[in-house]
Amino acid sequence: MFERTLVGIDRVRRGQLIRMNDQGVAPGDDGVISYDVRWPDGAVALGYWNGEPIAVAMDDQPEAAAWMSAREWLGQLPVVQTEVLSTALQVMTWRRDHRYCGRCGSAMRRKQTEFAMVCPSCRLTSFPRISPCIITLVTHGRDLLLARSPRFAPGRFSTLAGFIEAGESVEAAVRREVMEEVGVSIGRVRYFKSQSWPFPHSLMMGFYAEAASRDITIDGVEIEAADWFSPEYLPGLPPSFSIAHSLIDNFLKGVAPSG
Ligand SMILES: [Zn+2]
Repeated sequence: MFERTLVGIDRVRRGQLIRMNDQGVAPGDDGVISYDVRWPDGAVALGYWNGEPIAVAMDDQPEAAAWMSAREWLGQLPVVQTEVLSTALQVMTWRRDHRYCGRCGSAMRRKQTEFAMVCPSCRLTSFPRISPCIITLVTHGRDLLLARSPRFAPGRFSTLAGFIEAGESVEAAVRREVMEEVGVSIGRVRYFKSQSWPFPHSLMMGFYAEAASRDITIDGVEIEAADWFSPEYLPGLPPSFSIAHSLIDNFLKGVAPSG
């Protein structure tokens, strides 16, 4: 279990450790976690994993072969450990990207008791950035509206997703994204669940949206193809650990068999 507290951890220099660099994440004793190691300089405490302190550190000398990308690890680790890895990835991104004050340019200083960087000159505080996104499965009766971005692997389709804009409510973002990407107006919107997606700091909020009509108009840029699919004839789907997959899977469980 992962406990998100930094209480009592500021002077700890030994414990569990996740090692990573820009290329990937090192294998440990259990998934990405190594037990009982001395924390190197620059290690950042994350909290407690199964009651023991855990930190993340950059490692510039990977022992090549067994290192895997964070995406590969997230596809293999149990859900509880993906939470720790997501936190580690986002904390390291924050440390790299918030070294200087965005208001006055002074070097920021870490506050040890929480994930906060404070500017010694103007007191601006910066926290790890989280970018809220909506991800939605649009449905019509038994059918699913799935679309593909030009970035996807060949044959793969997925749910629709996009960033929430400043000043916008989550529900309005669902309606806007669906209209922008496939030109479909929607009726009822229902919340499903959320998932941290640390590439680099998205928080995906999953919804079901019931389409008010079936006509699809794609923009041809963000979306290169979109169509209605029946549960019996689905295209290639996103990886099983993604919330897109959960949205689809959970919907299919509730669909009555055809005929
Ligand atoms: Zn400042």
